[in-house]
Amino acid sequence: MEFVAGRLNRPSLRLRVTAAAENRVRGGHPWVFAQSVREQNRAGKTGELAILFDRKDRFLAAGLYDAQSPIRVRVLHAGKARALDTAWWRQRAEEALARREGMFDGTTTGYRCINGESDGWPGLALDRYGGTLVLKLYTAAWLPRLEDIAALLGTRERLVLRLSRNIQEAAAEGFGIKDGQVLRGEPCAGPAVFLENGLRFEADVERGQKTGFFLDQRENRREAAALAAGRSVLNLFSYTGGFSVYAAGGGAESVWSLDISEHAIAAARRNFALNGDRPAIANCRHETIQANAFDWLRETRYNRFDLIVLDPPSLARREADRAEAVGAYGRLLDGALALLRGNGILIAASCSAHVTAAEFFGLAREAARRTGRPFEEMKTTRHAADHPASFPEADYLKCVYLHLLR
Ligand code: SAH
Repeated sequence: MEFVAGRLNRPSLRLRVTAAAENRVRGGHPWVFAQSVREQNRAGKTGELAILFDRKDRFLAAGLYDAQSPIRVRVLHAGKARALDTAWWRQRAEEALARREGMFDGTTTGYRCINGESDGWPGLALDRYGGTLVLKLYTAAWLPRLEDIAALLGTRERLVLRLSRNIQEAAAEGFGIKDGQVLRGEPCAGPAVFLENGLRFEADVERGQKTGFFLDQRENRREAAALAAGRSVLNLFSYTGGFSVYAAGGGAESVWSLDISEHAIAAARRNFALNGDRPAIANCRHETIQANAFDWLRETRYNRFDLIVLDPPSLARREADRAEAVGAYGRLLDGALALLRGNGILIAASCSAHVTAAEFFGLAREAARRTGRPFEEMKTTRHAADHPASFPEADYLKCVYLHLLR
C-alpha cells in the first residue's frame, strides 16, 4: 500500500488546521475534527491521504481523510515528513502483531491483534478467533484499501470483514461490499469457536456485536471465576454468557444469565454446552432470563445473589447522552446492589467513553453508600493488554469490584 503524491494525478490534499488542533496532534492525539480544518487546497475524497501543515507551513502529520465523518483526518504519521510506502505499512502491521507476542499461550486463541488508533491503525480493529481473523472498520477511509490491508495481514487464514453501521451504506454503494463478508478463505460454517483461558466459546463473527465477542472483558471474566466458588451468580447484560461460563467454571453453585436478546441467550446456552466436559460447568445450574434489565431490576425484590456482574452496553455514545447515562448507571447500580446478599460482590463495568473512570467509580461508590450497608471497594480495573488505549477517547472500559460486608 503506497501513498505517493501524484498517483491520483492531482495535487496532494493539503490542510491547515487550527492552533489547538496542531497542539493536540503534536501531543499524539490521532484525530482532527472537521471544525479544526482552517483551509484546504481542494475538496478531499474519503480514503485519500491528507497532509497537514502547521502555522509556519511545516509538515505536521499525514492521515486518512474522511469527507463524511466529523473526524475529518485520522493521523497515520506525525513528526518528520516521510513517505508512507509499503515498507512503512508493513512495519506498522508487524509492530502491532509483535506487541502481542508472548501475551497469550495456547489456552487463549481469541484476542485483539490491532486496536485501532492506539496501535497506529486509526478506525480499524483486527481480532483473532482461532483460525478466523475479523477486520472491523469504523471509517469508510479504509474501504479503497481493503485489498492492500488483506495482503499486508499476510497468511491465508479466513478473513471476515465487519463494518460499523454508519459506513455500511457507503461500502455497499461505492464498493459493493457488505458487513460480514468473507474477504479471504472458506465461507464460515457457523460461528467461530475459540479458546479463552482454556474455556471454549463461539463467536458469531459475521453478525455478532463488535467482532463477535467482548474480548476486552477477558481479565474481568477471569476475576469473576476466581470469586465465584459456591456462590449464586447473576450476570446482567450477559450477551453470550462470557462471565456466566467463567463463573460456572470457577465453581459457582448457580448462574443466571439475563439479556434482552434471544440470540444472545441462545448463544449463552450453547457456550455452556461447549464446556460440558468440565464437571464444574456441567454441574452448575444455569438459568436464562430474556428481559430488559432495567425493568427486571425494578420488579425483582428478593435479595438472592452472592455475585452480580453488571456490564451494560455503552449508555453514552455521544456527549449529549452523558447526563442520561449517569442516571441510568445509578438505577442499575442501585438495582443490582439491592439484590446482593450479605458478603456479596458486585462487579460493575462501564464501556461509555463519555463517562470517565473517575465519574463511574464515583457513581458506584455513591450507590454503595446509598445501601446503608458497610462495603469495601476491592479494586478497579482498566483495559486488558491487547486493548491498549493511547488517547482519552479510546480509554472507555472501566470496572469496579464492590464487596457488601453485610
Ligand atoms: N458482558 C458481556 C457483554 C455485554 S454487551 C460479555 O462479557 O460478553 C451488552 C449486552 O446487553 C448485549 O448482549 C445486549 O443484547 C444487552 N442489552 C442491551 N440493552 C439491554 C437491556 N435493556 N436489558 C438487557 N440486556 C440488554
